[in-house]
Amino acid sequence: MAQEDVFKKLVSHCKEYGFVFPSSEIYDGLSAVYDYGQNGVELKNNIKKYWWDSMVLLNEEVVGLDAAIFMHPTTWKASGHVDAFNDPLIDNKDSKKRYRADVLIEDKLAKYEEKMAKEVAKAAKRFGDQFDEEQFVTTNPRVLANQEKYNKLNDRFVKAMNDSDLDGLRNIIVEEEISCPVSGSKNWTDVRQFNLMFSTEMGSTAEGASTIYLRPETAQGIFVNYLNVQKTGRMKLPFGIAQIGKAFRNEIVARQFIFRMREFEQMEMQYFVKPGTELEFFEQWKQRRMKWHKTLGYGEENYRFHDHDKLAHYANAATDVEFKFPFGFKEVEGIHSRTDFDLGAHQKFSGKKIQFFDPESNTSFTPFVVETSIGLDRMFLQIISAAYTEEVIKKDNGQEDQRVVMKLPPALAPVKLAILPLTKKDGLPEKARSIMETLKFDFNCQYEEKDSIGRRYRRQDAIGTPYCITIDHQTLKDHTVTVRHRDSMEQDRTAIDTLRETIKDKVDITTLLKQL
Ligand code: ATP
Repeated sequence: MAQEDVFKKLVSHCKEYGFVFPSSEIYDGLSAVYDYGQNGVELKNNIKKYWWDSMVLLNEEVVGLDAAIFMHPTTWKASGHVDAFNDPLIDNKDSKKRYRADVLIEDKLAKYEEKMAKEVAKAAKRFGDQFDEEQFVTTNPRVLANQEKYNKLNDRFVKAMNDSDLDGLRNIIVEEEISCPVSGSKNWTDVRQFNLMFSTEMGSTAEGASTIYLRPETAQGIFVNYLNVQKTGRMKLPFGIAQIGKAFRNEIVARQFIFRMREFEQMEMQYFVKPGTELEFFEQWKQRRMKWHKTLGYGEENYRFHDHDKLAHYANAATDVEFKFPFGFKEVEGIHSRTDFDLGAHQKFSGKKIQFFDPESNTSFTPFVVETSIGLDRMFLQIISAAYTEEVIKKDNGQEDQRVVMKLPPALAPVKLAILPLTKKDGLPEKARSIMETLKFDFNCQYEEKDSIGRRYRRQDAIGTPYCITIDHQTLKDHTVTVRHRDSMEQDRTAIDTLRETIKDKVDITTLLKQL
């Protein structure tokens, strides 16, 4: 099945099974804003817990924070967002559609990459075990020609972005003959800068009101609290502050479901270090964050780093963790060495001394910062797109059937255990309810008695429930139940008394944390 079709199915699956709904849908929705349903919110909370515990619970030197969304407007002057948090936009005159100029060019670069990857895949198939990829990519004329085009385009692109050269970006779009995906035409406007911050007024009267912004990132809430946390927590370098919270960006083009939203959530950790040690910690966090992702078990080959050629004004090293979504490799998390830019700027704009006193060297200095910044919603999308699986299965009568199963890591699944009485009579529901009463304190259980067992299994597969237990007549006699395992669909008979210990271990977040 084409990857776009898989993606469309995933989006409708998310709606059908209470993971994600369009915001205010009864009014036809609001572009790039989404609500999380009964299963979505559980999955989201579990992802948050996995992240939070991996930062705050496992690292003595990392502490948490929950800063307000509204901040003093000068914060955004100091951070550079008022002047420079822009995206270059371009309109197609025929379709009247708006695009990010940089994204159009990145898509063109990805096309060259795709062409090269196709040549490699073709040759690998033709030569089988004899295939030497290294030799092929350094000698094959078609690969070399595409690589040269890629490099030339990439160099021009990086230069134009670094110089904020808007005409340069437009020239690239024209010369590379990039056309509008909707109209197919190459009839483009000029490229203009567009600030991504949402603003509003604070204060009851228009005269007394001042313009404030909905924060476009959570990081600044951490920077302005650096001194508070360092002093009250008596923190020594290196130390980190972690925060999960909403961020808002007026994205020019919001598409691909919850990949790019106008209201989203970030999980950020700022690690304060001695100047000169930042690249060492940058490397350390790069590896640690990659391990966090790979621990979910979705395959090494689906992750890669993308080191930045174009560095933001505040960074001296930056990389993205990319995941292979149904629409290609895309950023899930950014890891940035942000130097002393932010603390330095807040010191300048606030006039307050924002430094660290090092008793060993008896000096004060502004710490450097290594940041890990991951989008919670994008992580959610990553997990569900990796988990969504369509399978053909054999029924007991030998016929084939289809099932959709969300292969979520048990520790992240919204419901851990479904409790299913075989029938609605003979005391089976009462027995099932009594099991639920004892287990509901340990993990999220769901009771279901409607429809055949087969249909109930399918509904639980569709939301990724790792275990289902069936209460039947034998249960009343010997206090055992059938445990059905989501992925293998195997069933075994287990004593009710041992359910808690056998399941709890496997569905607890600590199963993931212990692997880090
Ligand atoms: P992009 O290049 O995709 O616009 P970015 O580099 O601007 O992202 P950062 O500012 O580094 O993103 O933000 C850190 C993380 O926040 C990203 O890796 C992503 O997971 C998430 N994120 C950023 N913008 C959005 C958005 N509009 N919707 C959902 N998640 C987002």
